[in-house]
Amino acid sequence: MKSIDLKELNHLPGRKLGENDTFSFHCHPGLACFNQCCRNLNLFLYPYDVICLKKNLGIPSDAFLDDYVDVVLRPGNFFPAVLLQMADNDERTCPFLSDSGCSVYPDRPDTCRTFPVEQGLLVHQDKKKSELIQFYRPPDFCLGQYENERMTTKTWADDQDAATYHKMTIMWAELKAMFQKDPWEGEGPDGPRGKMAFMATYNMDRFRDFIFNSSFLKRYKVKSSILKSIRANDIQLMKFGFSWVKFYLWGIQGKNLRLR
Ligand code: SF4
Ligand code: SF4
Repeated sequence: MKSIDLKELNHLPGRKLGENDTFSFHCHPGLACFNQCCRNLNLFLYPYDVICLKKNLGIPSDAFLDDYVDVVLRPGNFFPAVLLQMADNDERTCPFLSDSGCSVYPDRPDTCRTFPVEQGLLVHQDKKKSELIQFYRPPDFCLGQYENERMTTKTWADDQDAATYHKMTIMWAELKAMFQKDPWEGEGPDGPRGKMAFMATYNMDRFRDFIFNSSFLKRYKVKSSILKSIRANDIQLMKFGFSWVKFYLWGIQGKNLRLR
């Protein structure tokens, strides 16, 4: 999900969807294009996607990041994007595409659930408010757009069981928007502070190890109820990681963490 500013809002491709706007869409195996969309993608993965996919595959976050993603710093960005690495074949298929369809379907990423709608986060000038903007943008080859079923963004999200994914992605996009300005004080995103921020947002198993097996808890006081939940739960740990990055990089104090 990209951050959008007001100037570019009216120039983005696709049809902007309001809450009650409808669009035609139905995807099913009977269509000639079935699974054609699962190849040659720039498929962005957000922190919650990584948690769900590594759980589906039964591997630690380190191994998932090593084996399945490209970490790319795009021009004008100060935090890297995480993209699912396509297979090294002529069609650059998604690594999870099997003969019978998506092999990680219950845990597929947010972008796959949202397609053919794209989402962006309009961050208002005062940075205190953000607004989810949605665009209907099926590619020409996608035949689902010619089917008769009518959807709204809400019925489509319900159909795809995407509400939690959207919520987590928005949470991440709000933090990511803070990286529009360079926070690295000359170190760059590959420096120690950048590595810490990446670990605390994307690499939950490593981040948990850091919290419980370094001097972290000697330096910072964390509520016992929070410690209990982040020890066992990756989603709580991810949310804690977001707060930690805000505190670590910008000194923004959350209610669950303070210096000793
Ligand atoms: S209808 Fe669109 S989303 Fe469904 S398989 Fe075809 S290309 Fe993919
Ligand atoms: S994760 Fe599944 S739905 Fe998404 S591109 Fe890959 S195969 Fe397709």
